[in-house]
Amino acid sequence: MKVALLSDIHANLAALEAVLAALPEVGAIWVMGDTVGYGPDPSDAIALLREREAVLVAGNHDIAAATGRGTAKFNAYAAAAAEKHRAWLSAEERDHLAGLPLTREAGAFTLVHGSLRDPVWEYVTSQPQAEATLALARTPHCCNGHTHVPRIFRSGDRMLANPGSVGQPRDGDPRAAYALLDTDTHAVTLARAAYDVAETQRRIRARGLPHFLADRLALGF
Ligand code: ZN
Repeated sequence: MKVALLSDIHANLAALEAVLAALPEVGAIWVMGDTVGYGPDPSDAIALLREREAVLVAGNHDIAAATGRGTAKFNAYAAAAAEKHRAWLSAEERDHLAGLPLTREAGAFTLVHGSLRDPVWEYVTSQPQAEATLALARTPHCCNGHTHVPRIFRSGDRMLANPGSVGQPRDGDPRAAYALLDTDTHAVTLARAAYDVAETQRRIRARGLPHFLADRLALGF
């Protein structure tokens, strides 16, 4: 089965639509958290993923927008966006986000936003960190997000795959990042989809979010 790996959509509807349009036929969509936060269209992003029956885990921004928890650890831009999202989302949408699991198993993979040591806050950027997460997994493999940088760690025949960020890439490439997984061969292909960055920037400014959050999208940082 082919699976689309998505993470850190961050309420960027234009980027999410571009990725979904670019996907081949897939048997599942796995989302490693942070569906909301930063961007202009949190409700539309949630609705689109529900329509596509995506499998989600909670990220730090999902929890902050749903409950207000964790915003003390945010920078001023992230905190301002989380507060706005909390106000924009319906009670039902907040409950949906608040009810997301921190981890979930899907076949041979465990999905988590940050790491299995710290599901919503650890940024896995090194081989020892990746191995620490794999050591805690009950499945052979894991998928995560949170860093906004696509990267696949391998340890023996095990893997931790991070597809990067759909809605706010931070690896210098402004195109939306995602990955395709073949669950039979365990091959992972990192991919990018160009989207209308200017449209999302316009929406961010129109909704009264910090302009920095619009500016950074053009640079992919
Ligand atoms: Zn994120």
